[in-house]
Amino acid sequence: MAAGSAIQIPSRLPLLLTHEGVLLPGSTMRTSVDSPRNMQLVRSRLLKGTSLRSTIIGVIPNTSDPTSDCDDLPSLHRIGTAALAVQVVGSNWPKPHYTLLVTGLCRFQILQLLKEKPYPVAEVEQLDRLEQFTNQHKSEEELGELSEQFYKYAVQILDAVRLEERFKMTIPLLVRQIEGLKLLQKTRKPKQDDDKRVVAIRPNRRINHVPSTTEDDEEEEDHDDVVMLEKKIRTSSMSEQALKVCLKEIKRLKKMPQSMPEYALTRNYLELMVELPWNKSTKDRLEIRAARILLDNDHYAMEKLKKRVLEYLAVRQLKNNLKGPILCFVGPPGVGKTSVGRSIAKTLGREFHRIALGGVCDQSDIRGHRRTYVGSMPGRIINGLKTVGVNNPVFLLDEVDKLGKSLQGDPAAALLEVLDPEQNHSFTDHYLNVAFDLSQVLFIATANTTATIPPALLDRMEIIQVPGYTQEEKIEIAHRHLIPKQLEQHGLTPQQIQIPQVTTLDIITRYTREAGVRSLDRKLGAICRAVAVKVAEGQHKETKPDRAEMGEGEDCKEHVTEDAKPESISDTADLALPPEMPILIDFHALKDILGPPMYEMEVSERLSQPGVAIGLAWTPLGGEIMFVEASRMDGEGQLTLTGQLGDVMKESAHLAISWLRSNAKRYQLTNASGSFDLLDNTDIHLHFPAGAVTKDGPSAGVTIVTCLASLFSGRLVCSDVAMTGEITLRGLVLPVGGIKDKVLAAHRAGLKRIIIPRRNEKDLEEIAVHVRQDLTFVMASCLDEVLNAAFDGGFAVKPRVERLNSKL
Ligand code: ADP
Repeated sequence: MAAGSAIQIPSRLPLLLTHEGVLLPGSTMRTSVDSPRNMQLVRSRLLKGTSLRSTIIGVIPNTSDPTSDCDDLPSLHRIGTAALAVQVVGSNWPKPHYTLLVTGLCRFQILQLLKEKPYPVAEVEQLDRLEQFTNQHKSEEELGELSEQFYKYAVQILDAVRLEERFKMTIPLLVRQIEGLKLLQKTRKPKQDDDKRVVAIRPNRRINHVPSTTEDDEEEEDHDDVVMLEKKIRTSSMSEQALKVCLKEIKRLKKMPQSMPEYALTRNYLELMVELPWNKSTKDRLEIRAARILLDNDHYAMEKLKKRVLEYLAVRQLKNNLKGPILCFVGPPGVGKTSVGRSIAKTLGREFHRIALGGVCDQSDIRGHRRTYVGSMPGRIINGLKTVGVNNPVFLLDEVDKLGKSLQGDPAAALLEVLDPEQNHSFTDHYLNVAFDLSQVLFIATANTTATIPPALLDRMEIIQVPGYTQEEKIEIAHRHLIPKQLEQHGLTPQQIQIPQVTTLDIITRYTREAGVRSLDRKLGAICRAVAVKVAEGQHKETKPDRAEMGEGEDCKEHVTEDAKPESISDTADLALPPEMPILIDFHALKDILGPPMYEMEVSERLSQPGVAIGLAWTPLGGEIMFVEASRMDGEGQLTLTGQLGDVMKESAHLAISWLRSNAKRYQLTNASGSFDLLDNTDIHLHFPAGAVTKDGPSAGVTIVTCLASLFSGRLVCSDVAMTGEITLRGLVLPVGGIKDKVLAAHRAGLKRIIIPRRNEKDLEEIAVHVRQDLTFVMASCLDEVLNAAFDGGFAVKPRVERLNSKL
């Protein structure tokens, strides 16, 4: 070859025997060196010594069995390639070896083997005249011939200056290439349903000036596919309008060259049209009694929700149509909204599909892109239908309160069309461009709050509030549903793990702070994972011989006592438990697995100074307790508020201060210098912790008053009391919302007394009896009553404490 003719190689060459491919002149190869012979060669010829030594080596394909570690030199292939060692990289992992980068220079022929050890060296003859060589060894050197031909063609093509000449030369070469590709495709024949991708990667069949049998086959195959597609279209149960469009499209498809990007697009479109469940539906099997049992089996508590769902289903059954409001479950995360949706589908025997709407701000997410767009696709509704394969599934529109809006149109408007029973029998997705009947789909929505649901959408929905759970309910849910589910998911049995109720309570109070049970579920998952490892380790150790048997001495830890008490996981770090003993998850084990508790009850600690009171807040994630802190300092009567407060809350703070200033004498409240003018030479700072969360609403009024009364009186607020209520300038306490969630939050936090506005008394009936029994409620209609209840021994008049539990 050209490269070979310019280079003079040494007449003696060390020989590297390679298993990994054949090095050809002009090409570069990376080869791994790990046989002792080759390693020696690399060390002494390429790594050691001075650069005076030539780095040209002979590379010989080693045709003997690579696994035989016979010391003798195998019989050598007579022809090799002289190569320049360009780079040597060494590594000790996983065993000592070098990686060698070599570039082939020219062929040589072995004349005589000069030595065999530690690596072979041979006297060689440089073979420059390639043609002559390949003529002689044509049959053996197939690869060499191909390479030579390739080279020859390349040089001819280089010589072809005229266009016509170039075409004549390249076409036969391309034909050969195409045939190769086709063969490759045949060997990797994709499944029938994968056709779409094949269409995209098939080579251009329009080069048919040079016909070949394989190509003909292929064309026929494509033709068959299109015919099949047409047949499917004709036999599908699509609407008349859709059929018309599809037949038109298939006509176009037949005329279209496959290479056009539109070919694949049209085909994808037609395939979707065929796949859509135009007329396919499941048969409803609603039996209200069975539905009740199923809902009860799947969900603990949630009585109100279950009752409403059953009513809804019963009415549907009687009316036999879906017109009517869409059910929308509103509540904090993890209270079972999605799960109830899934149960509804199960009771009806329908398919279930969840469509997440959180963050969707483009209407084409709902309604699809027009097919003129690159990468256009149908919207989530049509996609959902394709996924479930029937036209009457239950679609859960998750998080409708988190729909966004953008320049790309309002998704809420598109959703309205989807939900409107007057319109949705002819819903037109932009991608399909023909109407699809959605009237059989049962839509259910979920949200965390109604505040951010677009009003027009809200109008179509019947809101069902799903409140958070009490501790007791969470324990029941955990033991009846979550733990069995987690055990199953982790392949564990109750014989292997035991989680007592006190542990569940510990997880609920010290490791989670939530209205629902999602974090609880996750923590239980973490425990199961940890136990699964222990159990697996235990099983592994069981199969190993006992260490004591192996003579490791008496203090071997594997001696588990006969005592059948379950072992705590923390004690079992190195123990292999006998299989009949469940691993007991106690508090130590919890700490081991989940780390130190995240929420230690710090209430009394935080209330150990004057100027702190506990308020109750409502958030979309459920109720929460909120510590309000106040401090005073020398100043000019300034009020500083921190904690990301909204305007209404700021106003409450001003109201509270004004009321306290006007009542300072009555309550004997003074500033640092003993004056009843509380702001004289004094600045006040009020802070609402969890500063990163925006807070607003009037319900913190009573808490601010109490907190400041504590600050100016120097008295501590009782550590077991929480409060909520709006205030007026004249000291009245007005009702507020979210009482149930707030009470649950106070209960979760272990508080005992709750001050609420008297006019909220009726809301307490919604709260479970056992929660009410744990708490004492103080009804307040004016601030005097609030302060009397908030401080030990009262503030001015004796408080009116009512034990509601006895009354309700
Ligand atoms: P949401 O949709 O309200 O955020 P999920 O339905 O995803 O909550 O519920 C989270 C997990 O808690 C699910 O595994 C669900 O089965 C379980 N869960 C929630 N509430 C209950 C309940 N009352 N009974 C049984 N499991 C429940």
